[in-house]
Amino acid sequence: MYIAEIRENATGDIERVAFDHPEYDVWGPNKQFDWEENNFSCDCNRHLLFWRNRGDEEHGWNTTCSEGRFSVRITADGEIVYDEFCESVKVRWLGLAVT
Ligand SMILES: [Zn+2]
Repeated sequence: MYIAEIRENATGDIERVAFDHPEYDVWGPNKQFDWEENNFSCDCNRHLLFWRNRGDEEHGWNTTCSEGRFSVRITADGEIVYDEFCESVKVRWLGLAVT
């Protein structure tokens, strides 16, 4: 399982979204790819997750594709494994720091 903190950059509001399916929500390279470049890298999906977490799914669907409206920081096993909150995006995977 992992936790995605999704920040709406215009307001600074953060929603903590838990991904806790024991089989599908295991953090690893595929998940990192999802957040970095694939579906969850797009603001439309981040917007939906953010508003669904607030209990406003209807508002969540009312969005468009873009980049930069939301930033995420992901924690797995108590450690930050993916972080867009810093100015320069830092990614850590298996203890390796990549800048
Ligand atoms: Zn999109």
